Amino acid sequence: MAFSKEIYLDNAATTYCNGEVFYAMQPYFITNYGNPNSLHSVGYAAREAVEKARASVAKIINADPDEIYFTSGATEANNWVIKGIVSASPVKRILISAIEHPSITESARWLSENGIEVEYIKVDENGIISIPDLLAKLSKPTCLVSVMTANHEVGTVQYINTIANICSQNNVYFHTDATQALESVHINVKEMDITALSLSGHKIYGPKGVGALYIKRGTRIDTFMHGGHQEDGMRGGTYNLPAIVGLGKAVEICMRDGNTNNVRMKQLRDYFIKEIESKIQGVKLNGHRTQRLSNNVNFSFKGVTGESVVAMLDVMGVRASTGTASTSEVLSRSYVLQAIGVNDDYINGAVRFTIGRATTKEDIDFTVDCLIVILKKLRTLSPINIKMEVPENV
Ligand code: PMP
Repeated sequence: MAFSKEIYLDNAATTYCNGEVFYAMQPYFITNYGNPNSLHSVGYAAREAVEKARASVAKIINADPDEIYFTSGATEANNWVIKGIVSASPVKRILISAIEHPSITESARWLSENGIEVEYIKVDENGIISIPDLLAKLSKPTCLVSVMTANHEVGTVQYINTIANICSQNNVYFHTDATQALESVHINVKEMDITALSLSGHKIYGPKGVGALYIKRGTRIDTFMHGGHQEDGMRGGTYNLPAIVGLGKAVEICMRDGNTNNVRMKQLRDYFIKEIESKIQGVKLNGHRTQRLSNNVNFSFKGVTGESVVAMLDVMGVRASTGTASTSEVLSRSYVLQAIGVNDDYINGAVRFTIGRATTKEDIDFTVDCLIVILKKLRTLSPINIKMEVPENV
């Protein structure tokens, strides 16, 4: 087996910046570098570019452009939405799911340390929110429910429409973190009556360090980033002009090519799952089998640690992740896998593969071949005696 490959299967951590996006951004560094708030023609040209990007971001979720606020990414958008809504509400209680991204869970933890009541909505073994639990928890006054559109580790896609509907009927604000889902899940904030939605540039082949928060007109939310009067006085800070232009372009490409990309990725995803399950023993698919992101394949391998598989794949030219990308330096159990009840045999052996626009069937075949070699090796070395039914396999 030759190891001269470079196969990137970590597109949930970040994507490359699309060439069209890069070229759209370029002029805004050197020639069209104005401050969109300046009252002269250089500033007006910059303002025009910002408003064009805002219109694109609004369009992909069927919002109005004045409901889109640019941020430094989804982390800021998530911090803003849950702290800002709690701050503006007399009701100091929120509900989140136990499998939200750390930018939500850590914000919620901070709120709870500061006197806010935070409750966690249960998820089932596939990572799907329990609707009976949501309904039960909504019996107490609540100002916000936050449930991600799709999970960053196991790829489970929620029934956002149902959750949004329930919140709307109960007069409770509903926020969804759509960071991982923007290209693959069709979201219509007006039809679904979603109050707020977070997104990020670098998960959709746009630049890093830019994102947006959609806030439904009329929502009571306090400012998070105090400063100048940018973004209607709601988010201070000089506009990151090239990045905002890049985000707008990335979103346009999602709208243009999203369907084609998703069909292709879904085929690769299902092929990858089938190959692993048929060729490797002692595996468990994490997350929902069908209600999952078109690019996410997350498997636990019995008797090994995810970190050792990821490290050996890296040596072979395959870039994957344990799933907890934000904390992958720390060898700790994934709270997402714990919340969905993955048992002790499998919880430390999770590896997340996230397919991208550039992934090919040959990449998947090579990765599966690598996994067969790696697991054979690691399981032979393992102090835990793994006895599989088919010993000549893995
Ligand atoms: N939410 C989810 C679901 C994510 O996957 C990420 C990125 N890992 C974020 C929020 C944070 O996004 P950003 O990097 O733009 O701050």
